[in-house]
Amino acid sequence: MAITTRDLQLLFALIAEEMTKNRDRLCELDGVIGDGDHGLAMDAGCLAVAKAVGALDSTQTAPTTVFNSAAKAFLNAVGASSGPLYATAFMRAGTAAKDKQALSDDDFLSVVAAMVQGIHERGKAELGEKTMMDAWSPAANAALDARRQGASLSQCLAAAVQAAREGCKATSGMIAGKGRAARLGDRAVGHVDPGAASAVIMIEAMAGFASR
Ligand code: ADP
Ligand code: MG
Ligand code: MG
Repeated sequence: MAITTRDLQLLFALIAEEMTKNRDRLCELDGVIGDGDHGLAMDAGCLAVAKAVGALDSTQTAPTTVFNSAAKAFLNAVGASSGPLYATAFMRAGTAAKDKQALSDDDFLSVVAAMVQGIHERGKAELGEKTMMDAWSPAANAALDARRQGASLSQCLAAAVQAAREGCKATSGMIAGKGRAARLGDRAVGHVDPGAASAVIMIEAMAGFASR
């Protein structure tokens, strides 16, 4: 079934709700290998997005505008490094959704792939550098692989969740190559990356939304 602007409004509301629930846990993770604000940043950003997107008239607004409005809201609300990274992700989502009145399942997977590409180009993090990329990149790949094998959108996103969780877990063993944790060298080993953890939450919300 096609994903409409109304659906995207619900999705962003769900993401914000889940980020709020996890705010303290994300701050705790960031407190260990960063500066402790990641939960506050993601919660503020996602709430601002949900509010901005929720205020759009769904009958008059195309998905591309929803994502562009999300990008602007996230960037304005978040001063931390996650701000420009997710703003870029949402902007790329807007480009991927351009000229579409609603998103097919394949369109939605293209949107996710474009988000990940945006995070990659903006932050320049490679796999294994203990960042959100270590959750996002395997998640997008798993979703696209599942699609090639004929899986439904909800099955693809379930595969993405699984891959994101594994990727996030694996960040614990990594030395950071980007972000604040890079300053800690091997003292960051043994601790999960907060940005990977919040990526898992966002992907879980997408999967929950697709299986509703
Ligand atoms: P800050 O470090 O500015 O306080 P946040 O706490 O919001 O920012 O976000 C920290 C997270 O951002 C890290 O856990 C990591 O996942 C992610 N991150 C930092 N730098 C990069 C980068 N260059 N590319 C991708 N992700 C990054
Ligand atoms: Mg931080
Ligand atoms: Mg900070």
